[in-house]
Amino acid sequence: KRERDVKELQELERRISDFDPKEVTAFSELPISKFTSIGLKQSHFTTMTEIQKASIPVTLKGKDVLGAAKTGSGKTLAFLIPLLETLYRNQWTQHDGLGALVISPTRELAIQIFDVLRKIGRAHSFSAGLVIGGKDVQVERDRISRLNILVCTPGRILQHMDQAAGFEMGNLKMLVLDEADRILDMGFRKTIDAIIQHLPKHRQTLLFSATQTRSVGDLARLSLSPNAAEYISAHENA
Ligand code: ADP
Ligand code: MG
Repeated sequence: KRERDVKELQELERRISDFDPKEVTAFSELPISKFTSIGLKQSHFTTMTEIQKASIPVTLKGKDVLGAAKTGSGKTLAFLIPLLETLYRNQWTQHDGLGALVISPTRELAIQIFDVLRKIGRAHSFSAGLVIGGKDVQVERDRISRLNILVCTPGRILQHMDQAAGFEMGNLKMLVLDEADRILDMGFRKTIDAIIQHLPKHRQTLLFSATQTRSVGDLARLSLSPNAAEYISAHENA
């Protein structure tokens, strides 16, 4: 690694540990890489929403989070920013394999997440892909092996995990379950349980939901690490 990169990373880690999250409202005040900052700026994101203000500082410090906030409150950036930063801070390269997995209930929502990821991740050099079915399994598998970030639907990713001996998840640093309430409403509870069995235990998990139901709480207990998770519920003041 070049000395300048190492210095930048050390500086970033120092900013994160010194960071006092209480009064932060602008993305520019966050201790994040210049690459993510550029992506946010070029996408015209400047001021954080309530759920972003409440959760991003916590997730940047490495904690697991269950974030509940209604539809339209900005949950996508609340998990994509820490996702990009985790890979950046681990100096992830194309050769490190799959580092982050985002699970979304539907193909349409997965595509939306992927579009936001492409926008705010444009200055990074990670490879990212969508796995939502509709393509040949073998073709999809060959692609997956070269991806660092995967956005997928539950059924399709489990199919790959079950079928492929070489499906490598051992390096995974972050799991995101988006729209957890809908994932459960659609009957994917067992699928998610099975996916989690395939993942390394030492990882960061972010779970986002529009509502905080009992079954979302159950899923949180199953997927989040018990002693390092925060439960955050954000309500916009209209
Ligand atoms: P949710 O997942 O909570 O339903 P989204 O992440 O889809 O919400 O965001 C809803 C809309 O708000 C999107 O159009 C998104 O571009 C916009 N948005 C999100 N965060 C911000 C922000 N900080 N500033 C301005 N617009 C934002
Ligand atoms: Mg959403």
